Amino acid sequence: MENSILKTYNRYQLSFLKGKGSWLFGDDKNWYLDFGSGIAVNILGHSHPALIKALNKQSKLLWHTSNLFKIDNQEKLAHILVEKTFADKVFFTNSGAESIECAIKIARKYGNTFKKKRNKIISFSGAFHGRTYGALSISGSKKISEGFEPILGGVDNIPFNQLDKLEDNLTNEVCAVILEPIQGEGGINEADLVFIKKLKTICKNKKILLIFDEIQSGIGRTGKFLAHEFFDVKPDIVTIAKGIGGGFPIGCCLLTNKLAQVMEVGSHGSTFGGNPLGCSVSIAILNEIFKEGFLSNLSKKASNFKIKLEGLVREYPKTFDEVRGKGFMLGLKCKISNKIFVDEALTNKLILIPGGDNTIRILPPINITKKDLNIGFKIIENVASKLEKK
Ligand SMILES: *Cc1c(COP(=O)(O)O)cnc(C)c1O
Repeated sequence: MENSILKTYNRYQLSFLKGKGSWLFGDDKNWYLDFGSGIAVNILGHSHPALIKALNKQSKLLWHTSNLFKIDNQEKLAHILVEKTFADKVFFTNSGAESIECAIKIARKYGNTFKKKRNKIISFSGAFHGRTYGALSISGSKKISEGFEPILGGVDNIPFNQLDKLEDNLTNEVCAVILEPIQGEGGINEADLVFIKKLKTICKNKKILLIFDEIQSGIGRTGKFLAHEFFDVKPDIVTIAKGIGGGFPIGCCLLTNKLAQVMEVGSHGSTFGGNPLGCSVSIAILNEIFKEGFLSNLSKKASNFKIKLEGLVREYPKTFDEVRGKGFMLGLKCKISNKIFVDEALTNKLILIPGGDNTIRILPPINITKKDLNIGFKIIENVASKLEKK
């Protein structure tokens, strides 16, 4: 039956029947430890009781009414997000790419309205923002847009984390810059603090909007609710998806009042965005993440884990190059093929995710237990020891 699916992915010949916590049960009757979380989505693991309860409860009340009516869960969720972040307003979507489209539209509308048709968007090398036309047009890799030309105009892609020429590239035609605080698909590349501070200063002086794409890095994954909090700079827009639904497709675009004023009734929309089901799950997730001590506990567990990975890099210098990332958004840059490593780990019942720049991404559920972390670590160690000898 697989032949009926358009082949845009290389898939493993494995499917999963159920999941519990950080574990997935395969159709081969094996349990797999999930260090990938469905690409940073299952932020609280599988079958979390609070999420099941929220979805079950909502499923018996109401599924969909459209945004022509007030939606109580949507208002509740937006209120939490506004309370906990820089944002004053929220627009709800169903995916990451849709959140990006919303961000691009708002940025351009703002530039066109207030800044005498300044509408150029700057993105960075190694960036990934999704697969829709706007999103692929601002991607940092030609592979994503190849063959789909003409792509969106008025876009420049410049080197990530490089200070020289940064100011020159941010001309007075630019309305916004967009970047991931930690690049995910690109291979867990952290933005340097100095780079971000400089970027923020230039943006402030030249009245350019700063957009953080936190679709992968957000919702507590790095130990902060949003990863840009590490830099202590205020963005104008932040895009969110993946973890905020924990597996239910929901995303959003966070923005300030300054930008909200250019969007009016009819300037953007979504049939499903912010539906009662998705919002009920997201509220349950945020209730868990904002529990006293949750994020600090995660940070401690994750930094101990990272220290252990650094030990592995020293122990297996022919296999690994370095560890990078924050919290449970970690990358192991490899010297051998990352794909071979990931495949071997899967054979050993550990799910890892390959990333750009020959990295292995480690993105477990952020509520993973120490015990499960240790099990995963041992598998990584065993695989490294096997491959190092080859
Ligand atoms: C996954 C991802 C996207 C795209 O999200 P989709 O839900 O697949 O559209 C955009 N930006 C970043 C940083 C991502 O990790």
